[in-house]
Amino acid sequence: MRILEIRERTVPLAGNVANAVVNFSEHTVSLVALISDQTVDGRTLVGFGFNSIGRFGQAGILRERMIPRVLAADPSTLLASDHRTFDAAAIAATAMRNEKPGGHGDRAGALGALELAVWDLNAKLGGEPAYRTIARHFGHSVERRPATVYAAGGYYYPGASMKRLREELKQYRSIGFDAFKLKIGGAPLAEDMQRIETALDVAGDSARLSVDANGRFDLDTALEYGRAMQPLGLRWYEEPGDPLDYALNRAIAEAYDGPIATGENLFSAIDASNLVRFGGMRPGKDIFQMDAGLSYGLTEYTRMIGILEQHGITRAQCFPHGGHLINLHIAVALDLGGCEAYPGVFQPFGGYPPECDVADGLVWPTEVPGFGLELKRELRTHLDILT
Ligand code: MG
Repeated sequence: MRILEIRERTVPLAGNVANAVVNFSEHTVSLVALISDQTVDGRTLVGFGFNSIGRFGQAGILRERMIPRVLAADPSTLLASDHRTFDAAAIAATAMRNEKPGGHGDRAGALGALELAVWDLNAKLGGEPAYRTIARHFGHSVERRPATVYAAGGYYYPGASMKRLREELKQYRSIGFDAFKLKIGGAPLAEDMQRIETALDVAGDSARLSVDANGRFDLDTALEYGRAMQPLGLRWYEEPGDPLDYALNRAIAEAYDGPIATGENLFSAIDASNLVRFGGMRPGKDIFQMDAGLSYGLTEYTRMIGILEQHGITRAQCFPHGGHLINLHIAVALDLGGCEAYPGVFQPFGGYPPECDVADGLVWPTEVPGFGLELKRELRTHLDILT
């Protein structure tokens, strides 16, 4: 058994929406296809992966460095010991051959896309959904169960009003979401507080509303927002300041009583380790949002979880960034606290296909083999082009 070919394609992300820092209309995603020599009912088995949402594709890194290394390797070194699946950790290590430690960045997303495609392929080889393959591999229950999910929205749209925000959140509620996340930091504090109050009015309960500053604030601004929001008792306050400024994170954690959330811009186990050691994150309280697609894939992501657990932080505190099918399967398989959803935005990757039931704030994975990316109508054209 071997991988015959690895193809990649850069896919633009749809949507003219913005958070406090970036506009997503220029963002792209790397979609990777692993073409195997295995067939089922006459059809070649192909594993698909992508590097999450909200960044950029990494065609050059994939084409010039990682894909040639994997294809040049002795195929037997890429197989799991049962010889019936591929060894995701071995493929990741092969793709990273001759790379220096540190300097995580776009490289971590390139490998994330490639490594996640291995899990999709392994699940298809077993004829089962990816959550089951992943759960079995890491020693968890393989039973089908839902993930707790929240609708991430409340972006800054050109010319948007409070009425539009209210309608947006009501729309999420009507399709089964009961918790929401809102962007802050892209408007003055007074206007953001008005947006939060508007969202709270729809959410009905502050434990169902979190806010995300996308790393925009300096310490003084972060603390000022914290003081204004503290009486509201929000679910969490996400990425108040630069994600790599652990001293700033610690200062905010010391001043702000409610949970803070961060981690989506930490791309390696050592980055996550430094956050725990120096960032003031509180066991049993704060939220960790590292995302396998941005951080070398599931192999590295599970290393991060191991580090968190060594420091008394539980899986219930983990909510991966990036509302899409791959992270749904990962959240279910690894018994994480939940995951994000982007209903209606960031197509073709965001959100879940209609086959995934969403109700009462829970989303169910489907039983189709792999991550089920083929069920996403918006994505099918791109998958077809790659195969
Ligand atoms: Mg965020």
